[in-house]
Amino acid sequence: MSALTTRDVPLEIDPEEFRRLGHALIDSVAEFLPSRRTRPVTPFEAPSEVQRLIGADRSLPLEGTDPGELLHDTARLLYDHSLFNGHPRFLGYITASPAPIGMLGDLLAAAVNPNVGSWRLAPVATEIEAQVVRWIAELIGYPTDGGGLLVSGGNMANMVPFFAARRAAADWDIRALGLAHPSARPMRVYASAETHTWLQKAADLSGIGTDAIRWIPTDSELRMDMAALRDAVRTDREAGDLPMMVIGTAGSVSTGAIDPLHDIAAFCRKERIWFHVDGAYGALAAAVPDAPEELRAMALADSVAVDPHKWLYAPLEAGCVLVRDPLHLRDAFSYHPPYYHFGQEAVNFVDFGMQNSRGFRALKVWLQLQHAGRSGYQRMIADDIALAAELYRQVEAHDELQAETLSLSIATFRYVPPSLRGAVGTPDGEARLNALNQALLERVQGSGEVFVSNAVINGRYLLRACVVNLNTRAEDVAAIPEIVARLGREVRRE
Ligand SMILES: *Cc1c(COP(=O)(O)O)cnc(C)c1O
Repeated sequence: MSALTTRDVPLEIDPEEFRRLGHALIDSVAEFLPSRRTRPVTPFEAPSEVQRLIGADRSLPLEGTDPGELLHDTARLLYDHSLFNGHPRFLGYITASPAPIGMLGDLLAAAVNPNVGSWRLAPVATEIEAQVVRWIAELIGYPTDGGGLLVSGGNMANMVPFFAARRAAADWDIRALGLAHPSARPMRVYASAETHTWLQKAADLSGIGTDAIRWIPTDSELRMDMAALRDAVRTDREAGDLPMMVIGTAGSVSTGAIDPLHDIAAFCRKERIWFHVDGAYGALAAAVPDAPEELRAMALADSVAVDPHKWLYAPLEAGCVLVRDPLHLRDAFSYHPPYYHFGQEAVNFVDFGMQNSRGFRALKVWLQLQHAGRSGYQRMIADDIALAAELYRQVEAHDELQAETLSLSIATFRYVPPSLRGAVGTPDGEARLNALNQALLERVQGSGEVFVSNAVINGRYLLRACVVNLNTRAEDVAAIPEIVARLGREVRRE
């Protein structure tokens, strides 16, 4: 062992060098952040080009590399070849611009590196995560005496309550006996056809199967049809099936539609079915004083999924589960092997979800909530909503564009050239507009001038802008209609 009294550690960086490298990196990031405005949103390179850039087929280097050079070159690589969701004109999907203090928070979290699976291993970090959960509940008007935890994102924030509801609904020991036990009944879940695809994954992975999902039709505003929900539950009960969960969406991923959450809550209470709200996108809009009234009913849900990496502007990744009664999470996830002796009064997040070792993703969210405060968040979210509304108005006012939907901070629209205006609504005209707008989306994304995504609503292929972006301003929104129309003309000519 004597050879190891001093150790040559290839990953060691001495304190002076760490300081130098860190300062250089922070300087570089500080220059990069404002430069996003003058860069293309994306260089839109082909996979083969990007693979060539990183030398995708070289094998792992045998010897190490100087860390300064490595950090410098890697920063360049990322700045020059990424899609920037923090670009002022990135309005695609639902991916937020990251808050600067969150970036620093991730660095600090990694430096201390607590394992937030158990209180003993992460005393302050555990209490900070519990406080973040309470603060998010407070922000959206959910009871603060419940519980929850942070997870990787919206998919997991929905999936964790799904497993809790599955355990709560079963009147046999489903965790030991599974679904094949003789006393088991087929479980059913109810959600509108606009629900995000996390639901298929959850139904599949939980063993109840995707056929257990009852897809409830929507009304003209893409909200769950309550009469259809009642019928579906009645039919299943008559067949001897077991209704496990009703999912209401607070801000659908394609148009921002909000299900009739008050009615669903009342129905679930009467029928004694778990009421879950997928608020991955829209729940945080409840922080704004003049939020849609329907969002108030989230307070009645057994569980809510929220995504801090959406409307709290946290750098990826951060999702948040809220539950009315944390014992349901413990019932669904906890095992107590003999090597875990953490005591009772402390929270051990290992007992409340799927992960064992857990990172300190709460820190960036905790810092951000305090940096902006409640009023700061109200202003930022309200501004995003106002910018989407302004985009919708400008699209409406543009001759060659047709505005389609506006809800929360999502506006949908399409390009309709004058020559096809008369054909709107006819099968042939709609087919041609769909093909045209599909080609246009590719052109818009490839242009790097602005980035939007798409939605398909009632058979119509639409462009879709979602503002969850601290860097977007009125001038950005004002530029979009003419960019889209100009590129639309190009595509139409070809
Ligand atoms: C974004 C979103 C999800 C999925 O969240 P991820 O963070 O991407 O995993 C689920 N549901 C809704 C309504 C969403 O907007």
